[in-house]
Amino acid sequence: MSSSTEPRALTRAGGAVGASWGLGEGQAIPWEYAPSREARDIVAIRERYGLVIDGREVPAADGGTFVDLDPATEEPLAVVARATKADVDRAVRAARRAQRRRWGNLPGRERAKYLFRIARILQERSRELAVLETLDTGKPIKESRDVDIPLVAAHFWYYAGWADKLEYAFPGRVARPLGVAGQIIPWNFPLLMLAWKIAPALAAGNTVVLKPASTTPLSALRFAEICREADLPPGVVNIVPGPGEIGSYLAAHPGIDKVAFTGSTAVGRQIGQLVAGTDKALTLELGGKAANIIFEDAALDQAVEGIVNGIYFNQGEVCCAGSRLLVQESVVDVVIEKLKDRLATLRVGDPLDKNTDVGAINSRAQLEKIEELVASGVAEGAEIYQPACQLPERGYFFRPTLFTNVAQSHRIAREEIFGPVLSVLTFRTPDEAIEKANNTEYGLSAGIWTEKGSRILEMARRLRAGVVWANTYNKFDPTSPFGGYKESGFGREGGLHGLLAYVRLEDR
Ligand code: NDP
Repeated sequence: MSSSTEPRALTRAGGAVGASWGLGEGQAIPWEYAPSREARDIVAIRERYGLVIDGREVPAADGGTFVDLDPATEEPLAVVARATKADVDRAVRAARRAQRRRWGNLPGRERAKYLFRIARILQERSRELAVLETLDTGKPIKESRDVDIPLVAAHFWYYAGWADKLEYAFPGRVARPLGVAGQIIPWNFPLLMLAWKIAPALAAGNTVVLKPASTTPLSALRFAEICREADLPPGVVNIVPGPGEIGSYLAAHPGIDKVAFTGSTAVGRQIGQLVAGTDKALTLELGGKAANIIFEDAALDQAVEGIVNGIYFNQGEVCCAGSRLLVQESVVDVVIEKLKDRLATLRVGDPLDKNTDVGAINSRAQLEKIEELVASGVAEGAEIYQPACQLPERGYFFRPTLFTNVAQSHRIAREEIFGPVLSVLTFRTPDEAIEKANNTEYGLSAGIWTEKGSRILEMARRLRAGVVWANTYNKFDPTSPFGGYKESGFGREGGLHGLLAYVRLEDR
């Protein structure tokens, strides 16, 4: 792996340019951005947090806690209560009571008022939430500020709008809430995944018990504060941070009517087994190994931006990341050259710096998983490229990485890496591109880059992927359903499909 502590510099222009900047012959022009750190003091993080059950913050039944770290510094952020099974029982009972006695009976227009209020508070507190999310996840502040939090608020606005219009959402049918939803979310987009799950659930009259990931519990706990600020009735939203076994206890709990899970395919499979044979509704949003397909007629500079956004956004810790690049053979050399140039300009480091493009990996375990898979790529014969860039001394950082000479059989072409690692493959014809793109156990997303509209439509029809982006990548909207085929799970979140996942439709 290449590694350098040299500052990145404009060396290509050579000594002549260096001289015109007052530098000696052969000396490079310093080309670094001045630090531009977002103020951390907008967010007050307490030393300790409890669980949120029935509108109150409470310790775990056995007093257990765990430490939540900042992945960029490895320093503790807070000590958080670790839910026990007894706590989950209490949370489910509280959610059931709230659903039967209050929330499930409220007219839609009343539920909508609460959801609109939550959306407004999310927007008012967006800067604080962005900093908190960045501290807890390691993602760059410009992403939490410009992508995560605006989308979180947008989901609440969107589903607030549906709460009193369910009869129009499902014409001719009566939409009843399912009851209590058990929701388990991952660490890559903690508040956004919460919004994808809680907003439609509440709009349709359900109550929820949500388990955040152990490495990122803070934004869910802050969301519970926002629910209190919005005067949401107690028990409608319950938050139970805890280990994976608490997630499986929640999924198997006889007191819930619906399970919604986002995370790894392995855990999704276990949850599927727990729910099988019951009458619980289930949505699973699991991993992916998306193909981002570049045809020779594509606008290549735009495509390169799309490739970078596809795999280096959120450090590649994205289920729909464009982690397999399929480039038409005639343009592969130029695409790789442009990509390498672009990679050299990516700024890796302090997630709170507004210039940072690639922040910290969320946990040591995830970093080790990425390192192990990258080592397998090298061992299996792929060619690695990493730009020279200085990584911070502490924290879980990984250089943006590009693999060429990748074979379909390599692990880096088959397994979800969930890191800033791109595997490049080539194709000659559209048929070959389809065959390679679909040659995966996953089916979450794909990208197509071409100037021909007819080709986009034909490719999208033949790609076995829940979401297909054309001449763009990683674009999300609350009105648009998201979800996968095959091992990427089933059910959809977002849009009317996302609402459908939280209702039981009856005849009039
Ligand atoms: P997990 O699937 O283990 O974690 C996702 C959520 O499920 C977390 O809240 C986790 O809790 C919880 N969980 C863990 N085990 C169980 C269980 N047996 N029953 C119910 N809930 C459980 O993902 P990892 O964090 O281990 O990441 C591993 C890999 O999964 C990543 O490298 C990536 O490839 C993939 N992944 C995919 C995601 C996606 O968006 N599709 C998101 C996250 C990961 P806890 O945090 O306490 O373990």
